[in-house]
Parts: sequence; structure tokens; C-alpha cells
Amino acid sequence: MGRALFAAFPKRGMNPVKAIDAKAMELASQDAKLRTALFRFVDVTPACRSLDDLARHLTGYLGELGERPPSLDVAVKMGASKPGRAALGAAAAGGVRHMAHRFIVGESPRKALGILGGLWREGNASSVDLLGEATVTEGEADRYAERCSEALDTLAEAAIGWPERPVLEADSLGALPRANLSVKVSALTPHMRPDAPERGREDASRRMRPLLRKARDLGAHLHIDMESLDALETTMDLIFGLLDEEEFREGPSAGLVLQAYLRESPQQLDRILEWANASPRRPPLVVRLVKGAYWDHEIVQARQHGWQPPVFDVKAECDRNFERLTRRLLEARPAVRVAVASHNLRSVSHAIAANHSLGGEDRDLELQVLRGLGDELGHALAGEGFRVRVYCPVGDLVAGMAYLVRRLLENTSNESFLHEQARGVPLEELLAAP
Ligand SMILES: Cc1cc2nc3c(=O)[nH]c(=O)nc-3n(C[C@H](O)[C@H](O)[C@H](O)COP(=O)(O)OP(=O)(O)OC[C@H]3O[C@@H](n4cnc5c(N)ncnc54)[C@H](O)[C@@H]3O)c2cc1C
Repeated sequence: MGRALFAAFPKRGMNPVKAIDAKAMELASQDAKLRTALFRFVDVTPACRSLDDLARHLTGYLGELGERPPSLDVAVKMGASKPGRAALGAAAAGGVRHMAHRFIVGESPRKALGILGGLWREGNASSVDLLGEATVTEGEADRYAERCSEALDTLAEAAIGWPERPVLEADSLGALPRANLSVKVSALTPHMRPDAPERGREDASRRMRPLLRKARDLGAHLHIDMESLDALETTMDLIFGLLDEEEFREGPSAGLVLQAYLRESPQQLDRILEWANASPRRPPLVVRLVKGAYWDHEIVQARQHGWQPPVFDVKAECDRNFERLTRRLLEARPAVRVAVASHNLRSVSHAIAANHSLGGEDRDLELQVLRGLGDELGHALAGEGFRVRVYCPVGDLVAGMAYLVRRLLENTSNESFLHEQARGVPLEELLAAP
């Protein structure tokens, strides 16, 4: 399966812009100090007030490095004069913006419709994610809920005009919504605290209910993303509590996320399946299986407190757990719908093969990728007739920075599949059992 998918990847080197991106990623992944300097720069970009300011920050961070590649040496030298700084600032701002556009499909749902419609026509469904995390005031949480509500309207209205794509619109259990929105609980309340979970849950529920009603009335899907471990209990309780309410018995289609990097994820899956099997609610809950995007955060936080990290620290253990959870989820159908989200060709091929070996149909497995990171894999999967959903962040660059840095970290992490693939590790090794 992995070999067939790999052969269906689009050929490289056709797009010069992608080649430049690849070069920048390669540079950043070779040197941890350089990577940190560049990430600090990306992080500070939205707060810079002028090109001169930008250039001063860039040269400041680069100046702290002992050894620099020659191209960056030139940048530092340019920073010594005012005209040099203006040129450098403009180039750096352009670079960051360009990178951000690779991952962020538009500044608003309306502006993203061109890309979303294009994806659909090419055989890819989407899930829109409105950027903006870690809400700290009530006003911000209200504004995020309003943006979600408007996004549901915009997406549902536009999706009516999309052409028929049977692979994307139904599985063996029935119809699948065309409009799909991913939301973050931490953006729906400023009160997410593990030491006072009820407060955060109630506050977020208050803003989530109208969204569930709207998704139900428009026939859209609402997916609740999973964040760091300290939000997990609140998020799970919130989802189960709301979906158990009488008015949501018949919809909307809704989903949650299971993170395989957590050592306790098998027990979390027990809880999800217990709920799903006991719930008379229809349509079934969609479970998106991921490895988890907060690995560094969980490790650092545990170390800071002297705790045993809640995440696996050996990558292969995480990958093996992902495969075990994949199988369990596939076996749990039709109590749940299964979405496997990964850019790891081995993990994805395993899911497809496990589905076949269990006698499942391809239409009963959804494969999800992130815009900008999983484009090639998504293209290959859609070309082979699988149901692919592309997770598409929408929002402005300033709000998008946290997201962007997380994506870049993932892409340049030494143990990531994409890094290994870019390094030219042979296919047989990439596809070997973890
Ligand atoms: C459509 C989509 C939606 C997503 N939604 C969410 C979400 O809601 N919440 C969320 O947290 N993440 C989410 N993610 C991100 C996901 O969790 C992964 O970070 C990302 O996909 C990388 O995993 P991989 O299988 O693609 O790549 P791989 O390269 O195979 O795996 C990388 C992952 O392995 C884990 N890892 C890295 N090093 C180690 C180590 N030393 N020991 C153990 N584990 C390690 C980390 O989780 C890391 O992200 C989503 C991803 C996609 C594609």
C-alpha cells in the first residue's frame, strides 16, 4: 500500500516556489540554534512596527549564532546600514508572509472559498479552522464564537454550489456534511483551568450550544480539536455533556480527537467507545486519530514539575500505539466514524491495510492532512480514490503566528516522518513497522 501511494505522489521540482520553501526548511532543520533563531523571529514579526524594526530583530537573533551559513552572513551585514535594513526587513516580511500563506488558506472564510472550492473539485473535502488560540478575555471568546457562527453560514451556503463528489459525501452509514468546521475549546472561554474544570466547561458550553444548533440546522459538521493535556478532561466532559442533551439527539454531525502520543490514550479510547456504544445519538461521533501536536510542551511542562511525561518519549512507541488505536477504532465501527490524520506514509498505509484486513470498505475510513504539510500525500490519496479531508487554517497572519511556529517546529523536528522523507531515507525504511 505504501509503495503504491508513494508512486502516486506528484513529481517534485515542478514548482519553483515549493523548491524555495523546501530549501528554507532544510536550512532550518540542519541546525537547532538557527531554527530557534528563525522561530523567535517568526514569533516577533507581528509585533514589529517597521521594516527597520524587523531587520534589527532578524540580525539580532542571527547575530547570536556562532556559525552562520554564508547567505545569512550577508543578511547580518545588510543590517549594519539603514538602507540595508529596509531591504532586509522587506525581504524578511515577505518571506514570513509567504510561508504563512502556505499553511493559511485565506484571511477569512469568504476569502478562502476559492481554495476550498478548488480542493473539493479536485476530490478533497476540507475542515476549516479559525485561527486564534488561548483566549484571555470574555470579549475574545464571544468574538471567536461569532466568527465560528459566520463561518458555518458562509461554508454551508457556498458548499451548496459545489459539484457532486460521491466519495466525499457519503459512507456506508449515510450522508456526510460538505461544510465542516474545527473549533478549539480554549478559544471559546478564557476560563480553561485544570484546577477549576467546571467553570471553563460551563462557559465554553454556553458558546458552543448555539454553534451546535446552527451546524445542525445547516447540515454542517462541527469538530472539536484536542489541545494540551491540561484541557483534555474539560474538553471530553464538555463534548459528551453537550451531545447527550436532548436537542442534539438527531444532530449535528460532531467529532473529537484522540492523541496517540499520550500514554493514557488507550484508556481514553475506552471512555470514548463506552460513551459511543451507550449513546442513542445519531449520526455517530467522528473520532480523528492524531499523534498530538503539543509534544514539546508536554515534555517541558512535565520536566518543570518533576513529573513523568504524560507522552511517550520514544517515537516508535508513539507510532506503535497509533497503529493499535487505528485498529481498535476501525473495529469499533459503526459506533463511531473513523478519521486517521497523519502525514506519515507508514501510519496511513497501515490504516488502509488494516481496514482491508478487517473487511472494511475504503469509504468507511477518512484520511486527513494539514494544508501545506500534507499536500503531496493528500494528492496521492485522493488520486487513489480515498476520502481525503484537508484541514485548512483561516485567519490573519498575526493570529496565525502561534499556529505557524507549531507547524514549522513539526516539520523540522528531527524525528518527524516528513523530515526523514526530506532527508532521503529509503522508502523501505520509511515503511518499516515502527
Ligand atoms: C488533519 C489533522 C488534524 C490535526 N488535529 C490535531 C488536533 O486536534 N490536536 C493535536 O494535538 N494534533 C492535531 N494534529 C497534529 C498531529 O497531532 C501531529 O502533530 C502531526 O500530524 C504529525 O504527526 P504525523 O503522524 O503526521 O507525523 P510523524 O512524523 O509520524 O509523527 C510526529 C509526531 O510524533 C510524536 N513524536 C515526535 N517525537 C516523539 C518522541 N520522541 N516520542 C514520542 N512521540 C514523538 C509527536 O506527536 C509528533 O507530532 C492534526 C493533524 C492533522 C493532519
